[in-house]
Amino acid sequence: MNEINLISCEENIKRHKLKIALVFPNSYYAGMSNLGFHRIYELLCSRREFFIERVFFENNQLLLNNLKDFSKLKDFHLILFSLSFTDDIRNIKKILNLLDLHPLRKFPFLIAGGMGAGIDSEAVAKEVDYIFRGEAEEEFDNIIDLFLDFKDNKISSDKLNKNLLLIEGIADREHFSTSRINLIKKLKAPAHTVILTDQTEFRNTFLIEVTRSCRYKCKFCFIGNNGSFRFYPKERILNEILNIRKITKKVGLVGSDVLSHPDILDIYRILIREGFRVSFSSFRADRITEEFIKLYSENGNKSLTIAPETGSEKLKKIINKNISNENILKIAGWAAEYGLKKLKLYLLIGLPEENDDDIKDTMGLVLDIKKLFLKYAGKLKYMPVINLSINQFVPQPGTLFESFNMPDRSIIKGRIKMLKALVREGNIKFSFNIK
Ligand code: SF4
Repeated sequence: MNEINLISCEENIKRHKLKIALVFPNSYYAGMSNLGFHRIYELLCSRREFFIERVFFENNQLLLNNLKDFSKLKDFHLILFSLSFTDDIRNIKKILNLLDLHPLRKFPFLIAGGMGAGIDSEAVAKEVDYIFRGEAEEEFDNIIDLFLDFKDNKISSDKLNKNLLLIEGIADREHFSTSRINLIKKLKAPAHTVILTDQTEFRNTFLIEVTRSCRYKCKFCFIGNNGSFRFYPKERILNEILNIRKITKKVGLVGSDVLSHPDILDIYRILIREGFRVSFSSFRADRITEEFIKLYSENGNKSLTIAPETGSEKLKKIINKNISNENILKIAGWAAEYGLKKLKLYLLIGLPEENDDDIKDTMGLVLDIKKLFLKYAGKLKYMPVINLSINQFVPQPGTLFESFNMPDRSIIKGRIKMLKALVREGNIKFSFNIK
């Protein structure tokens, strides 16, 4: 792998107190694009007393970082799964099948954390010894020290189990339903990329967390329903970024609600002035201002992505994502005005109480954007493209819609057909993700 390590992590297996496998149950590309994975790796490396093996899962095979043979993982003390997506629970099952661990073994312990473990705790808890729900940073050392004490025979397995279950966020198979999500009280250091590589979604980009959780409460969203909005101080963020300017000038500002950071425009202006190319993980559309779009365009961007979810005002109220169509059109106008060539819209179909009229409202919104772009086309000498990413709504555990029954496939198919009629209008492209 072509990697630049921004932290040092000793790799001599003989000298380490615990051997820990940090597993991302999906590809190297996906894992190394994931800030949560980088954060846990950084926390482990900061102890300087463990051997850490990064492990990925590609083409139904384990991809190892140092070891030659995956069966060596059986001799490890801990296997930590960093689970971002609930779809990857099936990969955890496949990995465990490959490892074929003895059911009565002393080691390794299997622990899963990450967003996926918080969302579908029940399914994850069936596969591992312990799950961690929520934000691990504050408890991380305590948890690892308990395993270290157990390995050194300072505590019994009963004591280990009892002490682990006293930690907020930790649960075993029997207790996952009563465990609480651990939310850290005060953010300290922002999570950031610790290994740069060109084999990720954000090639050689230094990703850094600027905000955590979200101030909005969209009813379908796990993040919005679990945790409160927090942000890192501007100086802290800038220090971290300016420290790596000799290594990369590409930076990604990460958070579900980045534009709610009170100093985001200041941060953006300073980074542009310092010659950084800045990308953003996502925007809440109604936080976008004309000033932001101007900077965004000056920084060389040609495409903007927002997530209105629907054009139906009725459905917006039901899902509590109240970004008006008027607001979306205002943003589309700024995008065209400042020379962006593509507007990507994330849309959901199959939402609670959705009917065909709601789909017509969404089509109406798309056509209004197209009319607006047509007005700009003469002046611009090109027509900005509208790119629709249409996803089927899937109710998530831990949200207000968790017990909603998804509509029949025939209904979804009919609605896709309606939306596809927009292709005839030209300059509108589609991608679908339907279950
Ligand atoms: S704005 Fe985005 S991250 Fe925030 S609650 Fe809504 S969908 Fe979730």
